[in-house]
Amino acid sequence: MNIILMGPPGAGKGTQAEKIKATYPIPHISTGDMFREAVAKGTPLGLEAKKYMDEGRLVPDEVTIGIVEERLAQPDCAKGFLLDGFPRTIAQAEALDRVLSEMGKKIEAAVNISVPDEILIERMSGRVTCKECKTVYHVKFNPPAKEGVCDKCGGELIVRSDDRGDTVKKRLAVYHEQTNPLLDYYDRSGVLCNIDGDRSADLVFEDIKKVLENLG
Ligand SMILES: [Zn+2]
Repeated sequence: MNIILMGPPGAGKGTQAEKIKATYPIPHISTGDMFREAVAKGTPLGLEAKKYMDEGRLVPDEVTIGIVEERLAQPDCAKGFLLDGFPRTIAQAEALDRVLSEMGKKIEAAVNISVPDEILIERMSGRVTCKECKTVYHVKFNPPAKEGVCDKCGGELIVRSDDRGDTVKKRLAVYHEQTNPLLDYYDRSGVLCNIDGDRSADLVFEDIKKVLENLG
């Protein structure tokens, strides 16, 4: 079960990754965790990546793909894996296909949680965060008992700059620009599965399960 999980910010990708991880015996491999692990273990590629990160530079593809390759070769990936946050570009997708084919594997499904932009904007731009304990509320979907005040600690609720309407729109535009070529790539490979993400997390997961169970 070799899967890539895709979806715009606010689509509930994190929630679905948790549900997949809890249901299937495959590791959830997020780019951030993978980098942190390689750096912490001090692998040669981890040290190389750290050099770039310390300088605030983008880690080059050959280093990133090397780290992915090391991770996918670990025994816990024998039954499959759930890749999250990688690949981000066509070059990375092609490199991933090469690496997998050398291992006698391939991507079986690119699961894309799709939600209309206007819904994502509504979901994300209503978020307020407690200044003290960082609990996140939503003014419409998950409001605090008293407006502007945290239920848990009484702290002040603020709108983080990431959650402001104009920032959300910009993030979505960047996401689509980067991701549309990848969606085309996996569509052409015949592995793209679009999932309607404009529903409850449980219903979305039901559809993802159907896709994964058809992989055999
Ligand atoms: Zn609080």
